[in-house]
Amino acid sequence: MEINEEELKVKLTPEEYAVLREKGTEAPFSGALLHDERSGMYTCKVCGQDLFASDAKFDSGTGWPSFDQAIPGSVVETEDTAHGMSRTEITCSRCGSHLGHVFPDGPTPTGKRYCLNSVCLDLKPLE
Ligand SMILES: [Zn+2]
Repeated sequence: MEINEEELKVKLTPEEYAVLREKGTEAPFSGALLHDERSGMYTCKVCGQDLFASDAKFDSGTGWPSFDQAIPGSVVETEDTAHGMSRTEITCSRCGSHLGHVFPDGPTPTGKRYCLNSVCLDLKPLE
């Protein structure tokens, strides 16, 4: 998918742009969706692709929205060695926007903890 960075800079807030397109991280406990308990689908803020179902969300205590599984095929996992750490970055498979990281220490049967930036997501609530 072709991304027009100049259009995106207008559409997104500076913080959203810094996280999604420059691999930033929002401050913990700052995200509007962190404690949103509504049922629905979490989608990519840039392209609207479905990423995570609310059923997969759990409270990890980290201050970022956390999920134990992604919609199949919706995220790409890439090794990230920035900041002297070995982590697995997750990006949207459609538009390549940065979303967060996935860690192998999830408390549910999947064993995974997808740690998301709230600003990267929109929630489409179920009617
Ligand atoms: Zn996307």
